[in-house]
Amino acid sequence: CGIVGLVGEIKIADLIEALEKLEYRGYDSAGLAFLNNGKVQVEKTKGKVADLKNLVLDRIEQRINVGIAHTRWATHGEPNDINAHPHLDCSEKIVVVHNGIIENFRYLKNRLIELGHRFFSETDTEVIPHLIEEHYKGDLFEAIRKTVLKLEGSFAIAVMHADHPNMIVGARKGSPLIACEHGLASDVPPLLKYTKYMVPLNDEEIVVISEDGMKVFGFDGVEREKRAIEITWSY
Ligand code: GLU
Repeated sequence: CGIVGLVGEIKIADLIEALEKLEYRGYDSAGLAFLNNGKVQVEKTKGKVADLKNLVLDRIEQRINVGIAHTRWATHGEPNDINAHPHLDCSEKIVVVHNGIIENFRYLKNRLIELGHRFFSETDTEVIPHLIEEHYKGDLFEAIRKTVLKLEGSFAIAVMHADHPNMIVGARKGSPLIACEHGLASDVPPLLKYTKYMVPLNDEEIVVISEDGMKVFGFDGVEREKRAIEITWSY
């Protein structure tokens, strides 16, 4: 029940370490995604972060520019490897992790199936990458903005796109999300290694984090003033 996204000079090991700092939230599966030679690579498993770590142990020191990771507390679809996050779209370029529940997923899934999308999991989450794919015309932010307007329920999401190799986009409505220049997470501890200055996102906000820094927008697309707070405790 936690999400993480990191941007910059990171290794796969940093994603694992970030997930370890969210383990206290409870979960049944863990997964991560990163870009490898321009392609999205997903590793995920039912079980513990330690099981995920074993899956990537031979590549744990591999440098990546951007990555997202997840611990899942299943609400829709049993805990298994396929239902574990991250989830992909049909082009396998868009990859999403999600905390929360998409209440209108059944309706959205049926519409997307009619449009030709293929689904692999039983999760509510999988509609999100496919909806982004439907809206994507080259502008990732705009595709995500249109997507979150269609989602009912509660969510914190992190999204990566193979054609935007240094960028993570996050959004929240009802579930917590903290952002900083180096990434985002459901809570403060995974980010403290990188900075003391963080922006707790408000409901219905989107954050874009790239090499150029961090920008916060409303679901209306209007840029918001940054409200970084200084975290004065250590972990
Ligand atoms: N509803 C999603 C699922 O069951 C996300 C659960 C979570 O918050 O971890 O996969």
